[in-house]
Amino acid sequence: MSNKKKSLLVLICLFIIGGALYSTNYAIKKHEKSVQAIKIKEEEVSQAKVVALAKVSADKKALAAALKAKEDEKLKADALIKEKELAEKAKKDAATANALAETKQKKSSSSKKVIVIDPGHASVTSSVKEQQAPGSTIMKVKEPGGTQGINTKTPEYVVNMAVAVRLRSVLQEKGYTVIMTKTQNSQMLGNIARAEVGNKANADLVIRIHADGDNNHSVNGASMLVPTNTKNTSGIYKLSKEYGEIVFNSLIKTVGMKNRGVNERSDMTGFNWSKVPVILVETGFLSNASEEKLLMSDSYLDKIAKGLGDGIEQAMK
Ligand SMILES: [Zn+2]
Repeated sequence: MSNKKKSLLVLICLFIIGGALYSTNYAIKKHEKSVQAIKIKEEEVSQAKVVALAKVSADKKALAAALKAKEDEKLKADALIKEKELAEKAKKDAATANALAETKQKKSSSSKKVIVIDPGHASVTSSVKEQQAPGSTIMKVKEPGGTQGINTKTPEYVVNMAVAVRLRSVLQEKGYTVIMTKTQNSQMLGNIARAEVGNKANADLVIRIHADGDNNHSVNGASMLVPTNTKNTSGIYKLSKEYGEIVFNSLIKTVGMKNRGVNERSDMTGFNWSKVPVILVETGFLSNASEEKLLMSDSYLDKIAKGLGDGIEQAMK
């Protein structure tokens, strides 16, 4: 083999080796590139995940914010309702307070009502006569005196005055203005003069206090007398009867004696001359031994006064 041929062979060999080397290098580079591409891809995926996660997180936050807003709205609404309720309650409370104040004012004005108490009879009698009614031809004795206790002989006026002073205390304690037609048993006025006491005072009510007597000693119990509706009493008839019924019911309920009813009378001088509501209570029979005994006891008289006082208070409402 010539040198030329040797050189050519070497060149060929070198070429082949170089080519092999180049292709190996190329393969490596290509592989690296592909690895890099995968890495980029992976990074992209992971970035996308992060974005997606961030989005989810953002959505969650938005949702939470929306929920919170809703909650806040509800709380606000609740607060508004509560506020409205409180305002309503305050309004109601104010109305109640006003009503109470009004009632109190009414009560205080009703407390200024005038009650006249007329204890029946006197220790002095009078045979002087007076007209039974204005314009009437019937004349009646001014003060014939009352009945008396069957056993103790206690005069009726003593019992009447004992009830009257107790009733005065009860009514004064309730705040009424109380006027007595007399405070001494010796004062003898007559029925017209006593009716004039109520008229002059423009009394809201005159209550006359009496005790009963009967030939039949078994008769007992209390009764209430009120005016009949006549031309003299037409102006006071209705109220007198209404008050009489209320006061009498209270008396019977409180004391528990026999109920002899509310009776209209046209023959009572004290009724016929009255221009203001007037009632007359017969607290019991001094002619009945058991009732006489009761009427002599302080606690029974206290009970009567309480029954009458409470009844007057009810009637004046
Ligand atoms: Zn009498």
